[in-house]
Amino acid sequence: MNRVGKSEYLNFVNGEWVSSHTEDTYTVINPATGGTIAAVPQSDLQDTRAAIDAARAAFDKGKWPRMTPGDRAAALFKLANLIEADMDRLAPLESQNQGKTIKQARDGDLPFSVDNLRFMAGASRTLTGQASMEYAYGATSVIRREPIGVIGQITPWNYPFMMAIWKLAPALAAGNTAVLKPASLTPLTTLELGKLIEAAGIPAGTVNLITGPGAVVGNELASSDKVDMVSLTGDTATGKEIMKAATSNVKKLHLELGGKAPFVVFEDANIAAAAEGAVAASMVNGGQDCTQAARFIVQDRVYKKFQDKFVERLKTVRMGDPLQRSTDLGPLVSSKQREKVEDYVEIGSDEGAKLALGGQRPKGKAFEKGWYYEPTAFVDTDPSMRIAREEVFGPVVNVQKFSDEAEAIEAANDVVYGLYSSVWTKDVQRAHRVANALRFGAVEINEHLPIVSEMPHGGFKQSGFGKDLSVYSLEEYTQIKHVFIDLTDAVRKPWHYITFGDPT
Ligand code: NDP
Repeated sequence: MNRVGKSEYLNFVNGEWVSSHTEDTYTVINPATGGTIAAVPQSDLQDTRAAIDAARAAFDKGKWPRMTPGDRAAALFKLANLIEADMDRLAPLESQNQGKTIKQARDGDLPFSVDNLRFMAGASRTLTGQASMEYAYGATSVIRREPIGVIGQITPWNYPFMMAIWKLAPALAAGNTAVLKPASLTPLTTLELGKLIEAAGIPAGTVNLITGPGAVVGNELASSDKVDMVSLTGDTATGKEIMKAATSNVKKLHLELGGKAPFVVFEDANIAAAAEGAVAASMVNGGQDCTQAARFIVQDRVYKKFQDKFVERLKTVRMGDPLQRSTDLGPLVSSKQREKVEDYVEIGSDEGAKLALGGQRPKGKAFEKGWYYEPTAFVDTDPSMRIAREEVFGPVVNVQKFSDEAEAIEAANDVVYGLYSSVWTKDVQRAHRVANALRFGAVEINEHLPIVSEMPHGGFKQSGFGKDLSVYSLEEYTQIKHVFIDLTDAVRKPWHYITFGDPT
């Protein structure tokens, strides 16, 4: 831990900006330069508990859960407008903190976050219980849809601002309160979001933002009895830790974990379109994306053609300063992440995978200080190799061959993950057959990346459970209550309720 005196950034707790009670801070680094860009609170258990208490009081006695959906929506629309007006300031900050390109931050993450917030604000007014009917003699039933309570939210470092919105927007729209812990590497735009939440007039304590280590702050959110639900986007190993910690009070969980997405190319596909789509799908956010197309599974008759086009096109990806609009690929988020990628490239080479491109740090003065790594493609890989099965989370892909549909499905499904996948074919029947057979939370046909606020995003298998985006996400942050009402004033026969059927 570094001590650099008073934090430049502070935690946002109960509507106030506060340092850790210890006043400890840690430094935040720009991955493109290795330079320090800020200091944020190194919060501990006491700080975390204060944030949880604020969210608890705001839920149990505060205004937000008791406002009408219409009034909550108005506040969220105001927040969306404030973010939209601030995108030119937030985008470079996101780029400097995370290493992602300014194009990705300004044209992708931020406008999509605004869209998602607006979607959730509007959708909150459509949430409804159900005026039900008489399922028992002389009584009626009503279904209420209620917020869950205090939500602990833990975000990753790959899409810091967007993940904060994906979590906060549905939680708030449904009337919950929250404590959100951003990834330690990338807290800055989340703390900036706090300022906009304050400016939007969202009541104190409704949203609390606190920085600090996952093992301390995150673990307390997962284990505290005062938190009703915890939502994580992160590594599968972290999801398993959180599942254990959450048993204390049988918390509801929402886990969006790792991925190793297959990109399946059949011989009848438009190979030029597939090869072009493959570049963005694999290099998006420097490959640090849980939906990244990481496994290219290509039919033997078009294998060479696809591979040549894809590798040629990968060579044209422009790596460099992420703040330049012309840059396609910035640095990785941290030196640790680059070391992880390098370890996997070594593992792939040792396993006998053939390196067709990259496999090293780029050379030149422009890359000396940042954590850059070249686009890297292994070809002729085997589905049993670790490089083809484990999440690398960097600009590294592998290309493998199949001969028939059954083999393609088996290879695509043969990983522990099940988040994202795509199938490239012009045969509509095959497209449906394969989409049905793939065990992934999303299958795209002749596309890989597009994502929209209206459609759910979330995994199968060890990619987790629960959905982000869409009304499914909004419902995720609610619970169903059955209210049973006796419509009569009758004095029933003693013990009538142990008899099923007509009590008269
Ligand atoms: P983590 O899963 O460790 O980090 C995600 C979030 O969880 C961070 O806010 C982190 O806090 C927090 N956290 C860590 N440990 C705990 C814990 N015991 N209890 C509660 N919260 C915790 O991912 P890493 O940053 O370590 O990245 C490791 C790998 O995870 C990557 O290489 C990648 O493969 C994968 N990953 C996948 C993501 C996805 O979107 N599916 C996103 C990020 C990573 P802190 O930052 O303080 O450690």
